[in-house]
Amino acid sequence: MHAKTIGSLLLGAAIALPPLSGCHAPADNQNERSPAPTRDVGPAGWRAQLTDGSNGRDWPAFGRTYGEQHYSPLNQIDTATVKRLGLVWSADLPAGNPATGPIEVAGIIYTATGYSVVRAFDAPTGKLLWTYDPHAPEVSGHKLRQGWGSRGIAYWNGKVYVGTQDGRLIAVDAATGQPVWSVETFGKDEQRFISGPPRAFDGMVIIGHGGADEAPIRGYATAYDAETGKQMWRFYTVPGDPAKGFENKAMAMAAKTWSGPWWTYGGGGTVWNAITYDRDTDTILLGTGNGAPWNRKIRSQGKGDNLFLCSIVAVDAKTGAYKWHYQINPGESWDFNAAMDMELADLTIDGRPRKVLITAPKNGFLYVIDRTDGKLISAKPFVTTTWAKSIDLKTGRPNEAPNIHYENGSVTFRPTPVGAHSWPPMAFSPQSGLVYIPAIDLQVTYDDRGITPANFKWIGGMALDYGVRSDVRVPAGEKTQGYLVAWNPVTQQQAWRLPMASHFNGGLMATGGGLVFQGHPDSSFTAYDAKTGKILWSADAGAAVVAPPITYSVGGKQYVTVIAGMGTSAGLFGPMLAKFGIDYRTQARRVLTFALDGKAKLPPRTRYTPKAVDDADFKLDPAAAAAGESIFNMRCAVCHGGGAVAGGTAPDLRTSGAILSPDVFTSIVHDGALVANGMPRFEELSAEDREHLRQYLRTRAADLKQASVKSHE
Ligand code: CA
Repeated sequence: MHAKTIGSLLLGAAIALPPLSGCHAPADNQNERSPAPTRDVGPAGWRAQLTDGSNGRDWPAFGRTYGEQHYSPLNQIDTATVKRLGLVWSADLPAGNPATGPIEVAGIIYTATGYSVVRAFDAPTGKLLWTYDPHAPEVSGHKLRQGWGSRGIAYWNGKVYVGTQDGRLIAVDAATGQPVWSVETFGKDEQRFISGPPRAFDGMVIIGHGGADEAPIRGYATAYDAETGKQMWRFYTVPGDPAKGFENKAMAMAAKTWSGPWWTYGGGGTVWNAITYDRDTDTILLGTGNGAPWNRKIRSQGKGDNLFLCSIVAVDAKTGAYKWHYQINPGESWDFNAAMDMELADLTIDGRPRKVLITAPKNGFLYVIDRTDGKLISAKPFVTTTWAKSIDLKTGRPNEAPNIHYENGSVTFRPTPVGAHSWPPMAFSPQSGLVYIPAIDLQVTYDDRGITPANFKWIGGMALDYGVRSDVRVPAGEKTQGYLVAWNPVTQQQAWRLPMASHFNGGLMATGGGLVFQGHPDSSFTAYDAKTGKILWSADAGAAVVAPPITYSVGGKQYVTVIAGMGTSAGLFGPMLAKFGIDYRTQARRVLTFALDGKAKLPPRTRYTPKAVDDADFKLDPAAAAAGESIFNMRCAVCHGGGAVAGGTAPDLRTSGAILSPDVFTSIVHDGALVANGMPRFEELSAEDREHLRQYLRTRAADLKQASVKSHE
């Protein structure tokens, strides 16, 4: 309460005094502010900035505006001046997930990195104003086994909002860094977690969660009053147990598309990433995720569309009442989320002005949907899509390939559950009329032979409880696994396409300067000509860049900010990222801010070459190592990397002294010694399990040692 009172007083002062001049009291003695230059702030400023068509002074939301185009009209940095772009300042961040989108309001940058640790920086100077740490890992329990920390942060009326791994939604005073209110968005024993950015729209904060890849979760999104944290509404995305009665007509309708005791599996459909607000119609658009489990044969007796999985669902912003839906993948069986960012635009299609929603979900098609009624306008593949050749424009349903639900044995197709597009946001430039997609081109084989409803089991809140085996690979003969695709959503034709050095690349930003910005795992941060894809500028960011950049203007100067460092689920594909030499322990994580004529320098990047831990007592035991490998693949690989080749999201265990000592290993894996760092406890693993795991990791260390010896011969 005390914090809230102070926050309100300071907020009042901030509104009364136009320039940010000393009204922001320091959160502690490190945070004294020197008088800032006059800035055109005011209570109307940030709010106006949330509308598409605003002048771009601020970047006050994940996708800048309600419509989330990840576009700014600012044009001081343009195709001609961009060659003068240089670093103005950098701020080091501690270990933890840095793959997160910042926001900027009135000359202050807000970030939520690691497990939702919030920081405020003075945008022109990089001075740290305050830090707020919700200590999420310590209270997450088993929820720490899922997710990797925050991908973003929201702002409304003097407060910033973060979701935490353990399920809190917290409002923090933007001036002081003190918490104002906090609500639990789900129960302590539920295997849900928050990694996505909350969204603040018109006095509300809306948040969903993840969990349906790992546990029997029934998805929902909840809206809270931005000032008080009072719940306004909750919308479930899949129907619950009919015996308990349905919450609304939409759930009764959805239940007709499910079979068997689906509710005992949760059903899934989590709103873990994409939420957009259509101000024209006062509608919240929710992008829903995969089924729980993925395999429809287990979840719903192999039958039905299973609404509202993998759908865009429109609900009334004030009440949460259902308006319409468009299901991208009826009967979803592949983790083909419709939860990738949705971008709202006004386009002229076939001579008619249309209010559209553009999205590029995991399944590889670019959808243009009428956002007033959910009717499909067009859909075309932006990568190779062999799971379906086309989408029927009359029914809105995909023309699926045979056996695509693995009805009769295994099936191989493109794209994959990694996505043709994952959470790194795309961008839409109303100036060029193009959508820019960080595209992924991989192949998957699904096989559920031997897995039945009778023997399917959740294994305790871990990844890979899918009810089907999935094997993601580079398609035979393909050299490129990732592209930057520029696509015309009106004509549904490609404008240009650039091959990338890896499948996983950064989120995008387009600007009124005719530019598109994107970071990459090779540490390059690049500006492309939005019309042609020509590289006009590139900087060494000193670390992998996968987060989406932002741009804003302070005192008449345009800045570009991006957070460098490797994070989120990329670690599972450690072997595919090994060539970039990214290490959890030694990589830099930094907030980087650029402007024209910036002259700051980064220390040279240290490229990581893994060196196996010295293990003189190691003796080969293939049977124990094989047992350990299967535990590792189920529980550890998602962060520590396939084959224990880490991709920078968790330590490379082949190089870790912890694998040499049963006691140290037990203290970490079983007793939770490193929980505060984000390493979960696995108390259910027996002493034998732990020895098997250790044997596997020591074997992988020995393999690494042998490989290094060979490479030096
Ligand atoms: Ca999923």
